[in-house]
Amino acid sequence: MRQMDLLAEYDHIYEKADNLFKEYNPCQFVDDLCVNNRYNNYSELQINGCCGTRSKPCEHFGSKGCAVKALGCKLHICFYVSQTKAFNKLTAELAKLERRAVRLLPGFKIDTRMTRSDYLILLKGTTKRT
Ligand code: SF4
Ligand code: SF4
Repeated sequence: MRQMDLLAEYDHIYEKADNLFKEYNPCQFVDDLCVNNRYNNYSELQINGCCGTRSKPCEHFGSKGCAVKALGCKLHICFYVSQTKAFNKLTAELAKLERRAVRLLPGFKIDTRMTRSDYLILLKGTTKRT
């Protein structure tokens, strides 16, 4: 695929995942604390829409939460959500999108904070400009 097509695919998968999160609302944020956080008392561990801000501080985390488009993060759900029966369909759909991303996006790595800009830089180094 050409660089532009790969980016379009990145965006397409991201939007699909984003829509799934909107449809199922698995994280159920209340006062910036997600359900996993509230249930397990992980104070501030998953505040403001991001799962890793305390244990692994992220440069992209701002006062209003995540400030970038990061597909790896968007496809991630925690153990708590993945084991919740009500979210079986969501988990399966996200797994499908994950497989699609790995299959169609060369160089894309799951479970990383690789942003869209990072991915574009990677593509520029590995594919011809279109
Ligand atoms: S995926 Fe889990 S840990 Fe992350 S924000 Fe959602 S409920 Fe919290
Ligand atoms: S890039 Fe990922 S880890 Fe960083 S703030 Fe955004 S969602 Fe959180």
